[in-house]
Amino acid sequence: MFAYWGKILRVNLTDGTIKEETFDEKFAKKWLGTRGFGIYYLLKEMDPTVDPFSPENKMIFATGPLTGTTAPTGGRYMVITKSPLTGYIAMANSGGFFGAELKFAGWDAIIVEGASDHPVYLYINDESVEIRDASHLWGKTSTETEEALKEEIGDKRIRVALIGPAGENLVRFAAVMNDEHRAAGRGGVGAVMGSKKLKAIVVRGHKRVEVADRAKFTSVVKEKTDKLRNDPTAGGGLPKYGTAVLVNIINQNGLYPTRNFQYSQFEYAEEQSGEAMAAKYLIRNKPCYACPIGCGRVNKLPTTGVTEGPEYESIWALGAHNGINDLASIIEANHWADEYGMDTISLGGTLATAMELYEKGLLKQEDLGEEAPPFRWGNTEVLHYYIEKIAKREGFGDKLAEGGYRLAEMYNGTEYFMGVKKQELPAYDPRGAEGHGLGYATNNRGGCHIKQYMISPEILGYPYKMDPHDIGDEKVKMVILFQDLTALIDAAGLCVFTTFGLGADDYRDMLNAALGWDLSTEEYLKIGERIWNAERLFNLRAGLDPLKEDTLPKRLLEEPVRNGPNKGHVVRLHLMLPKYYKFRGWTEDGKITEEKMKELGIDEF
Ligand code: SF4
Repeated sequence: MFAYWGKILRVNLTDGTIKEETFDEKFAKKWLGTRGFGIYYLLKEMDPTVDPFSPENKMIFATGPLTGTTAPTGGRYMVITKSPLTGYIAMANSGGFFGAELKFAGWDAIIVEGASDHPVYLYINDESVEIRDASHLWGKTSTETEEALKEEIGDKRIRVALIGPAGENLVRFAAVMNDEHRAAGRGGVGAVMGSKKLKAIVVRGHKRVEVADRAKFTSVVKEKTDKLRNDPTAGGGLPKYGTAVLVNIINQNGLYPTRNFQYSQFEYAEEQSGEAMAAKYLIRNKPCYACPIGCGRVNKLPTTGVTEGPEYESIWALGAHNGINDLASIIEANHWADEYGMDTISLGGTLATAMELYEKGLLKQEDLGEEAPPFRWGNTEVLHYYIEKIAKREGFGDKLAEGGYRLAEMYNGTEYFMGVKKQELPAYDPRGAEGHGLGYATNNRGGCHIKQYMISPEILGYPYKMDPHDIGDEKVKMVILFQDLTALIDAAGLCVFTTFGLGADDYRDMLNAALGWDLSTEEYLKIGERIWNAERLFNLRAGLDPLKEDTLPKRLLEEPVRNGPNKGHVVRLHLMLPKYYKFRGWTEDGKITEEKMKELGIDEF
């Protein structure tokens, strides 16, 4: 096999056993990598109804075949587990350098099972694997932990995936952080790591990933890299302004959710745009491993000094979503969210839920305490005060640490929670892009944009422009195609931002050249479809009720947009969802049929 080692590391933290397992090409051709490997092992080995914080929940860190190669953006890894936020599948992806290093160490994936009774970290140095005590690291932030590990191990070139205090304290939206400011952010994967008392995974590798035909692969990679460099988004807007290039575009198109989706345009958007950040705080951009795009930002503030980020979602979640217009405070809040290790989208969404509960009088000052800053729209003190409190579960931070849905439930205001399947929504109001709304409603990991980025066709014109308010068959089929294609890109080990410039055939070319396979584009997309269906199967077995939960917040279905170009629109989900189930080949109530399971080869579960 090329581009894989065929090796999986299994670590049991309850009894301290470490084992090496293997897989063959047949398995690789069926599941490809990352999300594919993860969902296979979860379905095969775990009861989907387990408590996410119990030792029975497994946690898989998996690379793809292109991770660690020179394919553009080929440095991704993914964390797959049962989410403590949604109760369903979590598959959180991250860039940086950790994924590539894991591959250089000779491993395709790590399965972590059980739970330690004291803090530990895993140290992988090629074949050598040790579980080490991490009591002295418990309580440290992301940067403090990484620096302490570099010092302790005596090697500045180690790569580390870790949790901060938020993960240790089981904040339901805690992230796994790597390379200091890169996050496998969504779904609370960091809290699962905390429940296992696993503070960090340290990796150092010295091998080179072998591809089937080096000359051919190099030439294919060059062709695809050139395509990305020549694309106006991948080679222009993203390197220049980061993902924050979207702030002005999305706001002008009337999809920039403001004050918890009460409005769809923010009056101060320009002041927190990628352009404004570049003019005031940007020092340079920072690419992940093998990335020709380089959307990462390095900023400098008087308060934090040099820091990384924020990207578009974080600027919005900590800004317009909460009515906040102070870019410096947003950058600082993003810095601390990274240091404490939490997902900025869910953090901002939880704070915005609290803001609206406070506005509506359901949450009162006496609930917060005399000293605590009030949840008033635009109050930057909320950012400065609550992030640490959430991470440490102190005072009202303990309630915020449960996430927006559970918070809203505590104060009888679930209609003010803007999320899907208990996960907070990202930065696009779907009343201005209805296919994107269908994507939110049907996403296996709940409120998430990135697993079917319908903003591309509906707003940005990739691969071609679609009317954002068309809800016909073509739109529904495009949502399905984007979901399957994204599963394929994730499983390959690449960044989804490559879709600005590359299409399905380009991924086929790179995979075939690396693996020495001769699969068609359709066969690769079938892998994506298999992964999507297997994740759905996991959710159904975990208790998903599709007709109740494949939905959107009532506001987005019933309250027409108040301002901007989409004024008067809602999401007509009820007209799209039956078609979605039909085109997926599922039953009318959103279940996977026996025939579909057989067709995809997932009837073994
Ligand atoms: S496009 Fe951005 S997030 Fe994706 S790999 Fe490159 S730098 Fe990382």
